[in-house]
This record gives sequence, C-alpha cells and structure tokens, in this order.
Amino acid sequence: LTTTIAAPPRPVFGRVVPPPVDRRDIPPDLNTAWDDLGPRRPRFAVIHRMLGTLAGTDRYFRTDARHRARTDYGIDHESGAVWRWTDPLGRHAPWASGPYDDPSAVGRALVARFGLATVNRDGVSIEIAGMERDGVSSAALDALARLVAFWADWAGVPHDRWPINPETGVAFVARHEDFAKKACPFDALRELVPEVERRAGAILRAAQAGPAVSRPHVPAAPVAPPATPVPPTGLVVPPGVTIGQLGDWFGRVTSNGDKALTFAFDPAGPVSRLWLEYGATEGRWPQLAVVEIRAGDVRWFRFEDGLTIVAQPGRAPRRVRGSKEG
Ligand SMILES: [Zn+2]
Repeated sequence: LTTTIAAPPRPVFGRVVPPPVDRRDIPPDLNTAWDDLGPRRPRFAVIHRMLGTLAGTDRYFRTDARHRARTDYGIDHESGAVWRWTDPLGRHAPWASGPYDDPSAVGRALVARFGLATVNRDGVSIEIAGMERDGVSSAALDALARLVAFWADWAGVPHDRWPINPETGVAFVARHEDFAKKACPFDALRELVPEVERRAGAILRAAQAGPAVSRPHVPAAPVAPPATPVPPTGLVVPPGVTIGQLGDWFGRVTSNGDKALTFAFDPAGPVSRLWLEYGATEGRWPQLAVVEIRAGDVRWFRFEDGLTIVAQPGRAPRRVRGSKEG
C-alpha cells in the first residue's frame, strides 16, 4: 500500500478584491507633509484612530495640517466608506505613523530590518474615523479587512502564514503605537485588531486558495472612483479640491422647523460663491453651523468660525461681522 501525499496547492496572488475606494489624493504641493524615500513598497499596514470625521480630516489635511500631517486612507467607522489621500505605490511617504520613539518589538523589528524609512514608506497608514471610545460597525470592519487583505496579498503574504508577513517576520497589521509614543489606535479599536485579522485571513484564504484559473493572471487594481465633476468656471476653488469635497467642507444644515429646508453647497448659489471667495481670502472654509430664517425670508447663514452671510430675496447676499450687525 502506498500513500501519496499531495503537496498543498501554492497560493495564487492578485485575486483579492479591494473595497470601493474614493480616491481623494491630495496634491503633493498642497499638502507637503511627506518625504520622498524612494518608491513605496507596502510591507505592513498601520492602524490609527482618527479622533475626528472623514470629511473633517479631509479638510484638515488640505488646510491646517497641510504642512504637518498626512496619511494614506481614512475609513468611516459607521458607513465603512474608504477615502484615499495618498498612493501607497507612489513616492510620497506621508508623515503618518511617526515620530519613531519608544517602539514596540514589532516596530523595532521592522526598523532594524528595513531602516527608519520603512515606517512611513512601507507602512500603509489607515485611519478609522471616530473618537477613542467609539465603536466600529461591521461594515467598517469589513472595509478595513478587505483593504488590509488587498495590501497583504499585494505584499505576497500567503494565507497559510497569516497574520505574519514572512518577509518581515512580524504581523502584517501594526498599530501606530508600535512605532510612536502614542496611545493610538486606543482601546476600542485596538481590541478589534484580532477580529480584523480574522476577517482578512478569511479573505486571503478564499482568494489565494480558490480554484486555479487558466487565464493569465491579472493583478486586481483598486476600484476606480466615479468621475469627479469639474468645477464650473468662475468659482474660486482651492487647488486640488473637488466639488464633492467642497460639499463636505460646507456641510449641510436643516432649518425652519416643521417646514424643513436643507442648505448645502451649491456651485451656482450666490451664498456658496461668497463662501468660496471668503475661503480664498482667509485660507479657511468654515462649516455651516446654522441658518436662521427671519421675517421677509431673510436668511442668516452662520458658519463655525463666525463668518455670517445674509441673503434676502432679490438682493445679492452680503457678509456681515458677528451677530450685532445687519
Ligand atoms: Zn495614529
């Protein structure tokens, strides 16, 4: 009697489908918080807690933090929407997962092997929206697991070695605190890392161990975003910013009690145009806080930094200062 033990099938790479990604890549001259450390080459993922919202962080990276901070991806902790700010395969290593100080064994192992540049060049930085204690929905965990699995597969991590990346000798999923003297990603998200690894492992197994395909293998590419509308001419739009992003910055307010009216960014609207001119002058694009509707349908648009725009029928809207005027 002879027994033949078949060798396990070799993993097939390039079949992990990434989650839908909204590419909002920030031009390198708009946000300069990056270094050219040579071509980027993902070897691990770094999980962060955003301590904010997706839209707020998008705006932060394009305004206040444009010379201070930048990451690769943000994921909404409720909807699971994925936004990309930096190309993990480009040459711009974002200032995401440092400063390198008091690292864990994982951080030390990676830096010992690949040098200090590895932290932001080879780490795919992924921020999850929400505050320290906020929960993370199953949809968001799924998006995170799919994104992690996509890059692990790209990096050649076989499912039967997961969660270890054989190339680095440590787990593929790292946390900001592995490199920096920080508590990021904080308790709520840190406790979910094993669940993310479990889900990503299942995705890798299904993709890599699935039936062999006869056609030549084509690596999966990130899903292309829908075409972005081009801003109408005559609008004072900050460089590298789309109409969709302006809508997020402007925000949305519902007012007028029972007869609810909703106010949002309108490229053709005179209030939105005045707000854009204000942004171009002041360098900030404050979010709409409240709209007061007074007698004669006079509308007071109050923004979070104190900007107030008064609009009344038949007249061009105007800026006023504070609440006393007008
Ligand atoms: Zn962080």
